[in-house]
Amino acid sequence: MKPQHITVIGAGPVGSLTAIYLAQRGYQVSVFEKRPDMRNSNISAGRSINLALANRGIHPLNEVGLMDKIEKMLIPMNGRMVHDIQGNTNFQAYGQREHEVIYSISRGELNKLLMNEAQATGSVDIHFCEAVTDIDFEQKTVSFTNENSGETTTHPFELLIGADGSGSIVRKAIHQQLGSKEHSEDGPFNRFDQLGHSYKELCIPAGKDKNFLIEKKALHIWPRGEYMLIALPNLDGSFTVTLFLPNEGENSFAELTTEESVTAFFKEQFADALAVIPTLAEDFFANPTGHLATVRCDPWHHANNTLLIGDAAHGIVPFHGQGMNCGFEDAGVLNQILDKFADNEHDNWENVFAEYAAERQPNGNAIADLALDNYIEMRSSVADPKYLLKKELAFELEKRHPDHFIPRYSMVMFHLLPYADAQRRGVIQNEILNELTANATEVAEVDMDLADKLIGERLM
Ligand SMILES: Cc1cc2nc3c(=O)[nH]c(=O)nc-3n(C[C@H](O)[C@H](O)[C@H](O)COP(=O)(O)OP(=O)(O)OC[C@H]3O[C@@H](n4cnc5c(N)ncnc54)[C@H](O)[C@@H]3O)c2cc1C
Repeated sequence: MKPQHITVIGAGPVGSLTAIYLAQRGYQVSVFEKRPDMRNSNISAGRSINLALANRGIHPLNEVGLMDKIEKMLIPMNGRMVHDIQGNTNFQAYGQREHEVIYSISRGELNKLLMNEAQATGSVDIHFCEAVTDIDFEQKTVSFTNENSGETTTHPFELLIGADGSGSIVRKAIHQQLGSKEHSEDGPFNRFDQLGHSYKELCIPAGKDKNFLIEKKALHIWPRGEYMLIALPNLDGSFTVTLFLPNEGENSFAELTTEESVTAFFKEQFADALAVIPTLAEDFFANPTGHLATVRCDPWHHANNTLLIGDAAHGIVPFHGQGMNCGFEDAGVLNQILDKFADNEHDNWENVFAEYAAERQPNGNAIADLALDNYIEMRSSVADPKYLLKKELAFELEKRHPDHFIPRYSMVMFHLLPYADAQRRGVIQNEILNELTANATEVAEVDMDLADKLIGERLM
């Protein structure tokens, strides 16, 4: 029979949005979250304070009817403001149409709103400080340890959705049960690939009267080849700044062990940023160093009763600003697939799970690759004249062939076509751009007849 009750693990952004979708479909939903309720306690500093929200995340938020409320929480970022080592800046628009912008949003405020809206449906209850410790897929029970009392309780479940982030216990339980390997060509696998680079969050405070000390409507990047600094604006006039560095070696976290070494590094590499980060050394040592990894696993569901969603299924590195956007898209796709089976009194979760995984897994893998590629683009390519020429040409080709040539960044951030298609088309487009710019230093020198021919042959 159609289950009446669904258990969601994790009240992060994706778990909360999933609970809203399910409640709107008429389910009763219980969400279990290991942390305390962030609405009554301070959100810890130094953990992804703001995020870039883009089209794929906005679309599902619109579907559940929340964008009106969320709009006031957004700061548009029209492009990248690239800071060179001398402190010169160069603005690079993200898109070429008015709506082609991404938005900075407070992760905590968005998460709180989603939890409020989930509870406001009247069909969602959220239990805090309850950490999943064990799942019995045959008996359909899940055990929790209360983070305050240490008490362990076991609850039955009809259907379980693991939205418990990249370190997902639900994923581990599924893959332990399946005997998954870390690497496998043809069997179940559960891989956690560390990037070898980590991040540290810092802050540019607001100026007098909450004014922004650097350009407000941009995502700032200080690209330095092997590493970079970025900054995204907050509504209160401050910026959340994130330093991405290798863990070991030259110019790495391993070298920055004293206040003097941190300040000297910033003086040499990011002098204009240092001028507006008064609490650099203090924040550097107070805030945690966050590690970055890519999670890939197969399968994403188990025993006809358990499904993974969001980072639990596909933790990705943050360089395309898509982790949460992709997780929101997962929730929207799950809802569409449930729509497809809506006439069926006996919701066939086996089919729902299989179709969801068939649709989302290739896309999860594609955005994981694209996010890794984009680290190189952000920390290095954005300062390369050839990259800038190709970017300008890509906009020109998009004007000539708006349905067939869309810059890769735009396909990922401003369109809804599947990530795997964006990846595949992006490779072909890049080959075309390389061919067309091989002997050119400006767009006027590019043979546009050849461009039309190549696009016709390879992309139509
Ligand atoms: C530095 C950085 C920058 C980023 N920037 C962007 C960006 O610009 N745009 C973007 O789209 N994404 C970005 N991301 C990614 C984004 O933060 C994640 O993709 C998103 O938070 C995933 O949401 P989620 O709900 O799936 O997982 P999470 O946000 O990790 O939430 C999982 C929840 O499950 C809970 N939980 C974990 N284990 C248990 C357990 N055993 N029992 C019960 N509950 C549990 C956790 O406490 C948490 O509340 C960034 C990430 C980082 C690190």
